[in-house]
Amino acid sequence: MSLEPKLEQLITGTTKLLGVIGDPIEHSFSPVMHNAAIAQMGLDYAYLPFPIAPENLATAIAGFAAIGLVGFNVTIPHKQAIMPLLSEISPAAKAIGAVNTVWHTETGWTGTNTDVDGFLAPLQGESRDWQQRTALILGNGGAARAVVAGCARLGVDRVCVVGRNPQKLAQFAQSWHASPLSVNLETASWEQLPDLLDRATLLVNATPIGMAPETDRSPIEAELMAKLAPEAIAYDLIYNPRPTQFLKLAQGVGARAIDGLEMLVQQGAAALRIWTDRSVPADVMREALQRHLAARK
Ligand code: NAP
Repeated sequence: MSLEPKLEQLITGTTKLLGVIGDPIEHSFSPVMHNAAIAQMGLDYAYLPFPIAPENLATAIAGFAAIGLVGFNVTIPHKQAIMPLLSEISPAAKAIGAVNTVWHTETGWTGTNTDVDGFLAPLQGESRDWQQRTALILGNGGAARAVVAGCARLGVDRVCVVGRNPQKLAQFAQSWHASPLSVNLETASWEQLPDLLDRATLLVNATPIGMAPETDRSPIEAELMAKLAPEAIAYDLIYNPRPTQFLKLAQGVGARAIDGLEMLVQQGAAALRIWTDRSVPADVMREALQRHLAARK
């Protein structure tokens, strides 16, 4: 007889709801890691995926309040669009300009951003002096915003964001002018990369290039990667596959490689900590993700 708890034992009339909103959402790994932690913590919660189209965002949030949802994560394409629907936004999320974690209070929905904590977690052990250093960030989307904020927190001297769309890139740079974060940010086109790469101490892939199923792709090809200094850190926000082609090429020149799994784990653990006010087993979340990824191979 199986000792695994059955669904009818896990979800009852008292179960509280958490979840993640996005469009699409079916590829999200968040339910796997959150439900694993919830089970281990012995909490009467369930974490569900909610596919919400942009035009339904306001209705969905009002509905969540009506059904007493405790909190939820926010992913593409709602991280910025949700901000006007919240009654309170943490200074961290305001500074980044994006929200990934929301919870209900007496006054309405409050939002914050745990992606920065997630991004920084694998870099905390690095005994580097980040001043006098340059970070090169590939991509100017939502995740790149958390990376820029993370670099500001590290005290990185110079941050260079590389984008393919000059208009979006200019808007990205402009959006940091009003930010309370102190960041020395410049932008560049992909064509300028050969002149920039050898100065990078931290090289971050914040694009989806190389993500499964297109696992043989890399935002930087081998010939160009040869310019990366061996003492640099290459950080890919992608967590499937592990490692990506980008990280394999960086390791080939001697750089230290960090993939996106720990960022995913730590941003999730920080969110669950907010919702439950309990200490959260990040190791259980990591193991659940690793098992889930291995089963998909
Ligand atoms: P996003 O908002 O859609 O931004 C993607 C960025 O990549 C955009 O700047 C886009 O350029 C650029 N891009 C896409 N395809 C490109 C191509 N072929 N050539 C050049 N640039 C390209 O997505 P996001 O939320 O920032 O996510 C980016 C990556 O980070 C994804 O792989 C995601 O899975 C990963 N991520 C990981 C975590 C984690 O916890 N590990 C968290 C968040 C995101 P345009 O702006 O010109 O379209």
